Amino acid sequence: MRIAVARETLAGEARVALVPELVRKLTAVGYEVAVQPGAVRPALFSDEAYAAAGAVLDENAFDQAVVVVSVQPLPEEVVAGLTAGSSTVSFFPPTARTADVVIRRDRGLTTFGMEFVPRISRAQPMDALSSQSLVAGYRAAVVTAGRLRQFFPLNMTSAGTIPPAQVVVLGAGVAGLQAIATCRRLGAIVKGYDVRAAAAEEIRSMGATAIELELPTLEGAGGYAREMSEERAARQRELLTPYIAAADALITTAAVPGRQAPLLVTTEMVEQMKPGSVVIDLAAETGGNVEGAVAGAVVQVGGAQIWGASNVPSQMPGPASKLYAQNLVNLVTLMTHEGELSPDFEDEIITGACVTHGGQVLHEPTRLALEGDDQ
Ligand code: NAD
Repeated sequence: MRIAVARETLAGEARVALVPELVRKLTAVGYEVAVQPGAVRPALFSDEAYAAAGAVLDENAFDQAVVVVSVQPLPEEVVAGLTAGSSTVSFFPPTARTADVVIRRDRGLTTFGMEFVPRISRAQPMDALSSQSLVAGYRAAVVTAGRLRQFFPLNMTSAGTIPPAQVVVLGAGVAGLQAIATCRRLGAIVKGYDVRAAAAEEIRSMGATAIELELPTLEGAGGYAREMSEERAARQRELLTPYIAAADALITTAAVPGRQAPLLVTTEMVEQMKPGSVVIDLAAETGGNVEGAVAGAVVQVGGAQIWGASNVPSQMPGPASKLYAQNLVNLVTLMTHEGELSPDFEDEIITGACVTHGGQVLHEPTRLALEGDDQ
């Protein structure tokens, strides 16, 4: 039974789906691990490291593979060549990939999307959204510290005292809390805000001040935030303006599942920041929390620079790959019984993560988009 590790050819994707140290976890449950030679960027892991860990280096790694693992979805030409009935595991934004979903459905492929693993406690070891958000949150904080031409910590010297940097973090989920914790460790004074009621205590537990606005909290299903009304959004922006104007740096991480990122900060608000201020928008790829942010670019607004995030976990490919690979190995292991890949479709983790199986589209929003609601 072969598991193949796919070659990632997308620009900007430096992560790998399997790190050598985890190869043995898969061989131990009965897989032959096949890696394409040169599949993995030499800077990260060499072919020799995979071979030494027990993997097979094979130009035709996908031939006879029962499952192919990758970080990004496989290119369509690769999908077209997969053995009928085989499975893939990767991140898989399906609403943006309807043509791909149709090919997969019609070829009877089983597709698992790591972002759909339910956020329940039993699934935490497979929660790649959390592991990659942790990396992104850390990276956001160190990019902020690097771009800000100031000390983060308080410096008291015989020549005088330099006060610590003031950082505001909007959105205190996994990435936001990690950004807060990292900024605190570097010595900045941090204030955080989130629409969820539970977040205030979590912000304080990281050593930051929770910004309390006179607005109702917005708790949605599954512990996530709900979308704001335009009226509330405008009021939130108004109430946050003085906090942002007083900050040296702003990090935004707000998201609402299945929606465009909420606009939290307007150009007018950024223009009120001090010259030299730094704004990091971790939501830039999904619509942006900050007006004018461009994913993968730095934009100057007034005296501030706005850094728009683009595949931030790939900027720390070593730890991001190790955590992602561990999530993936845990999911594959859950689906493996007595040396066979045999997912239990009664298990909510498996059904939750599954996009296509047995000629059907199981991911409901995608099925509705493709087939309408007449089923
Ligand atoms: P996310 O990436 O969907 O959103 C990031 C944050 O943005 C959230 O905290 C959200 O409340 C916040 N936000 C949304 N709209 C906002 C607005 N208008 N203004 C300010 N903030 C706004 O969230 P996430 O990081 O994936 O996690 C969200 C929740 O899920 C958290 O409660 C987290 O603890 C929980 N979680 C649970 C598990 C688990 O049990 N396995 C795993 C991971 C996360």
